[in-house]
Amino acid sequence: MNQQPTRIESESFPELRIFLLDWFRKNKRELPFRINKNAYRIWVSEIMLQQTRVAAMLPIYENFLERFPDPNSLKEASEEEVMKYWKGLGYYSRARNLKKGAALLVDRHSGKFPKTYEEALEIPGVGSYTASAVLSIAYNKTYAVLDGNVKRVLSRLFLVESDPTSSATDRFLGTLAREFLNPDSPGDHNEAMMELGALVCVPIPNCPVCPWNDRCKARAAGKEKEIPASKVVDNWIELDLNFLFLRSEEKLLAVKYPGRRFFKTIYSLPFRVEGKHPYGNEPWLEDFFSDPGLSQNRSNARHSITNHKIRLRYCELDLKNRKDVERKIGSVPGLEWKWFDESELKEEFPSSISGKLLKLKNKRDKQQELPVGNV
Ligand code: SF4
Repeated sequence: MNQQPTRIESESFPELRIFLLDWFRKNKRELPFRINKNAYRIWVSEIMLQQTRVAAMLPIYENFLERFPDPNSLKEASEEEVMKYWKGLGYYSRARNLKKGAALLVDRHSGKFPKTYEEALEIPGVGSYTASAVLSIAYNKTYAVLDGNVKRVLSRLFLVESDPTSSATDRFLGTLAREFLNPDSPGDHNEAMMELGALVCVPIPNCPVCPWNDRCKARAAGKEKEIPASKVVDNWIELDLNFLFLRSEEKLLAVKYPGRRFFKTIYSLPFRVEGKHPYGNEPWLEDFFSDPGLSQNRSNARHSITNHKIRLRYCELDLKNRKDVERKIGSVPGLEWKWFDESELKEEFPSSISGKLLKLKNKRDKQQELPVGNV
């Protein structure tokens, strides 16, 4: 692998831009955030898309915008309600930042997304990529986007073979993206680059339908599948999360506190981190997990959070004396709790994990219903 990025000749840029825009106008997907150039809607879509695929994000996006159609409605909503509408997307800090950002838009910018790059960067959760995307798409400002897809497209089109993980390559691609940007249609150009990276110049590229198939340098060199060199993920942490259905007086316990490793900002069932992991355990949970009445279920489901490969498990414990439970959890700094109906688990624990736990539980309940000899 070359360690130094190559210099790019820019004479071909005008023609390549035209081919790209022509392809985009004929092939772009009709997506709800493309219907009008409303900066608030584009901002919400960009934040949702940061870690979520379009197909998974669309139904959540439409519900979210129906409930929070403008920055003011998002600012005024409770954090809990925003989290409920975010459910299924994960990475809840994004939703918290959106809410804080909405407040900033209302308080400082008359409820509008700002028009300068510097002001956009002051919005919580908005970095250079999001600022460039919103400003170019909504206001046609000349800022180039550079995400993983765009890096892959540029690297192949211009045969950039240097180490894709090096900061020198990043800087080089940043400059290249800015120079390649179409000054007459920066918003469409950025969307077209992202769309090409999502639909055609995917990890295994579909070159025959690419607008640059006879101009792409990686394709000409037969290296379209090798660029960019894949990075090795070697920091996976495998662990178990064992969730506790703690019942008292026919209600389930949900807790929220900032001192734990996951779900610091939303209510969840109490859980213990198990297996070989680098995180400490919390003494207050041990009392419940070592209770003789605890029933541990054997089945499990898979889940992942950032670099954690997680095996989900669950156990159940019924305790008569709710006051005893509250005395124990009341000693944990910053811990908030509430009791809720089990039928509301998905709403009260707004993560896709709650759905997976319910599936495990339903499966177990059905097995228990089977007559003996039919197992
Ligand atoms: S020709 Fe192939 S490798 Fe080159 S930009 Fe198009 S899809 Fe990507």
